[in-house]
Amino acid sequence: MSFNIPRTEKKRVVIVGGGFGGLKLAQKLKKADFQVVLVDKNNYHQFLPLIYQVASAGMEPTSISFPFRKIFHKRKNFYFRLAEVRAIFPERNMIQTSIGKVSYDYLVFAAGTTSNFFGNKNVEEYAIPMKTVSEAMGLRNALLSNFERAVTCADEEEMHELLNVVIVGGGASGVEIAGAISEMKRFAIPQDYPDMDKNLLHIYLIEAADRLLAGMSPESSENALEALTKMGVEVKLHSKVVDYCDHKVILESGEEIPTRSFIWVSGVSAVDIGNMDHSWLGRGRRIKVDEFNRIIGSDNLFAIGDQCLMTSDSNFPNGHPQMAQPAIQQGELLAQNLVRLDRGEPMEPFRYNDLGSMATIGRNRAVAEFANMKLHGWFAWLIWLVVHLRSLLGIRNKVLVLLNWTWNYITYDYSMRLIIYARRAKEIIEREIREANCHWGEDVLGPKKDDET
Ligand SMILES: Cc1cc2nc3c(=O)[nH]c(=O)nc-3n(C[C@H](O)[C@H](O)[C@H](O)COP(=O)(O)OP(=O)(O)OC[C@H]3O[C@@H](n4cnc5c(N)ncnc54)[C@H](O)[C@@H]3O)c2cc1C
Repeated sequence: MSFNIPRTEKKRVVIVGGGFGGLKLAQKLKKADFQVVLVDKNNYHQFLPLIYQVASAGMEPTSISFPFRKIFHKRKNFYFRLAEVRAIFPERNMIQTSIGKVSYDYLVFAAGTTSNFFGNKNVEEYAIPMKTVSEAMGLRNALLSNFERAVTCADEEEMHELLNVVIVGGGASGVEIAGAISEMKRFAIPQDYPDMDKNLLHIYLIEAADRLLAGMSPESSENALEALTKMGVEVKLHSKVVDYCDHKVILESGEEIPTRSFIWVSGVSAVDIGNMDHSWLGRGRRIKVDEFNRIIGSDNLFAIGDQCLMTSDSNFPNGHPQMAQPAIQQGELLAQNLVRLDRGEPMEPFRYNDLGSMATIGRNRAVAEFANMKLHGWFAWLIWLVVHLRSLLGIRNKVLVLLNWTWNYITYDYSMRLIIYARRAKEIIEREIREANCHWGEDVLGPKKDDET
């Protein structure tokens, strides 16, 4: 396999990752005189803020996923390649990927983050993360399968394990999925499982810190705690998960909570690029960049979004929050800066324009914070709906999501509770990739090959 992209007189910008930052950068380079190569391990962009609705069977994955090839239809001097980036060879301006090596004039890392299990092997093996659309589908399947098994389960202990849902991490994702599962318990379970006592379903939200939504004000944390408690979620603050054995989540206090639905939304670390020089990395394994998003000490290497750590912005000396807006704004500015750099003009430093933050807790309930305004309840929820609907890519997806929300709101019927496993096809694809890796996977720079592009 090779990248199979012709080298032209245009300089080549390779973007690793088509998330919020990488996608915005690629879109904004439309009119620039570059050849743009976008490399992503998925063939679609994912709208992560609504992933919890996919996980809780309230929305289909196609509503929040957008194929790159469709987004970049008819775009000239643009190439998408489905591949995972493994290593970088800056001395040769080249990266190693799962489908071969590709050279660049400018390279931008925008690969985001991955779940951080803090080195706990049991947690890593058994917890269900919720960072990607595939993981959200895995979580949905696990929840629905556990409910199905609970209906026929004769063993009381196992029944508790199947009906206890333990969510670890009290940030926005934890609060949102806890609220969504609590609504499933209230509205969907009685309809779908009339022979199951919904009161046997217990939802726990575990947080090590002293409050939920640590990135927001104490007032919003308090609101979220109050709302979730009213919705029947048992919130445990000051509680650290130390292990998971024999279908039990074990807390530092020694308390054990039996569960087979162990959801992990606690902490992330930046995506590792195999052989990356350790001196490039800072807190959370984020790549250290200067005020132009340039990797410190390099000329043509950049990193944006969650994967980078910029400490030069005086309002954010510990780096920007790992949220969509910093990634989008950095992608936008970097597109302009690459053009400036190429023309030999000075680049503009990045300053984050904080547009606020929000988290939804459930039907008619959300918390939202803007410059000098804090909202909660129905109005915050309405703003949350409008902002997320506007941010979705494509009219088709906007319409689908709006219809879906309206239908759910009116009928209380979360209608898509299917358990679907992709079996054989996935095995075949994985085998193919493994075999391809045998050929290309060594992260070493051999002699220059004729088919390098
Ligand atoms: C469940 C959840 C809910 C969230 N909700 C909100 C919210 O409500 N509001 C908000 O502002 N933020 C939210 N965030 C955070 C927000 O989604 C991120 O901050 C944002 O996506 C960061 O953008 P990015 O471009 O840096 O990375 P990402 O959007 O994560 O994109 C990274 C891309 O890189 C690709 N990739 C990764 N590794 C490789 C590799 N080795 N090779 C090739 N490609 C690779 C991935 O497939 C992906 O397409 C949420 C995150 C999660 C997980």
